[in-house]
Amino acid sequence: MLGAKSGPVELTGGTSGHRRWYRRGPAGVVAHRFGAADHRARSAGSRAVAGGRGYDVPAMTDHRRADDELASRAAPTSAAAAVSAPAPPLDRLGRRMHDLRISVTDRCNFRCTYCMPAEVFGRDYAFLPRLQILTFEEVTRLARLFVALGVEKLRITGGEPTVRRDLPDLVRMLAAIDGVRDLTLTTNGSALRRLAGPLADAGLRRITVSLDSLDDDVFRRMTGIDFPVSRVLDGIAAAGEAGLAPIKVNMVVRRGVNEDSILPVARWARGSGLVLRFIEFMDVGHTNGWRMDEVVPRAEILARLDAAMPLEAVPAAYAGEVADRFRYRDGSGEVGVIASVTRPFCGSCTRSRLSAEGELYTCLFAAAGTDLKTPLRAGATDDELSERIRAVWALRADRYSELRAAGTADGPRVEMFAIGG
Ligand code: SAM
Repeated sequence: MLGAKSGPVELTGGTSGHRRWYRRGPAGVVAHRFGAADHRARSAGSRAVAGGRGYDVPAMTDHRRADDELASRAAPTSAAAAVSAPAPPLDRLGRRMHDLRISVTDRCNFRCTYCMPAEVFGRDYAFLPRLQILTFEEVTRLARLFVALGVEKLRITGGEPTVRRDLPDLVRMLAAIDGVRDLTLTTNGSALRRLAGPLADAGLRRITVSLDSLDDDVFRRMTGIDFPVSRVLDGIAAAGEAGLAPIKVNMVVRRGVNEDSILPVARWARGSGLVLRFIEFMDVGHTNGWRMDEVVPRAEILARLDAAMPLEAVPAAYAGEVADRFRYRDGSGEVGVIASVTRPFCGSCTRSRLSAEGELYTCLFAAAGTDLKTPLRAGATDDELSERIRAVWALRADRYSELRAAGTADGPRVEMFAIGG
């Protein structure tokens, strides 16, 4: 029924320099590329720029003023200066650019242990100053250029995107871009009771919610804060009431933490119309203390599911779909596994990623991005920005997950919260 397609995989991996990375040693997270003094400097700088207001966590972000200030500085983009439409670029491995993931903030109100652990991202952590974060106008301008280069799918992410003020305004702006076939959002679900309606009204069609357990204790342990899982479940209900569909649910599985939640979550999602995806715990960034023995491999997740609720494989819905899909044999729904560790899918990766500060990444495991914000704010034309994006994509040859090899695990990698998964 289910082929055991995954074999043993040797894992380490890594690349070179990014501004914020951490190394976990025997005594916990012990070193990072920017020392504490650098963070303090950044923090002080941010306060100076932002007029004396600090950035304590988990304070919600107020980007609005920065948006207003920067909107007036943005290079004019008139209809007359329409973007020319050159042939969509292919990268060096023949992959086209189909998706853009847009991180709208590096902040999050959760402190998931595998993504943004509280011991690193505490109250004194210097998140990006508002003025360094792209305004909605800037994001929309860049998104339009990506779409002109072949992108059809936009995903808003973070950090936690719903902590960015006035998020529905951005959805409305992105939804209005000609050529966008799919616009979605990944969220922890904590604010959906309040925001699902406005987001749907603004043009969001579907949504993905992260949910790692139905068990309140496990959920709180994984999310690192005192937040009841019932509120996320209520947020998911609100998304349904707002007409967002399909609603996908992503569950990261970490050995010894929540693998016992696999079946309860599957049973809960089954037959409800929710599209559940299990995600192998990945070695993104450096703060989560990733170890291969904490990965619950795809094969094991499927075996657990199949033993309780027999499954059969479903063909991919489209080229480049990251989840391996399965349906319950009794017709009660489907489930998927995203097996970036044990079954990497770099060969079909069509994703580009824009960080909140305007850097373009082509790989979740990249060490560094390409700065789009500086030229954008310096008055670059659409053609110039477009050429920069095209050049980055055309040079792309990354396939980190496929290349995980001994001796590279300590190399720097961007943190997940900076580019949003
Ligand atoms: N805050 C939003 C959320 O919770 O969905 C969006 C950003 S979050 C970084 C995007 C996704 O990445 C979430 O589903 C999260 O569980 C997943 N993620 C973060 N770190 C991960 C890791 N080390 N391995 C696997 N998935 C991870």
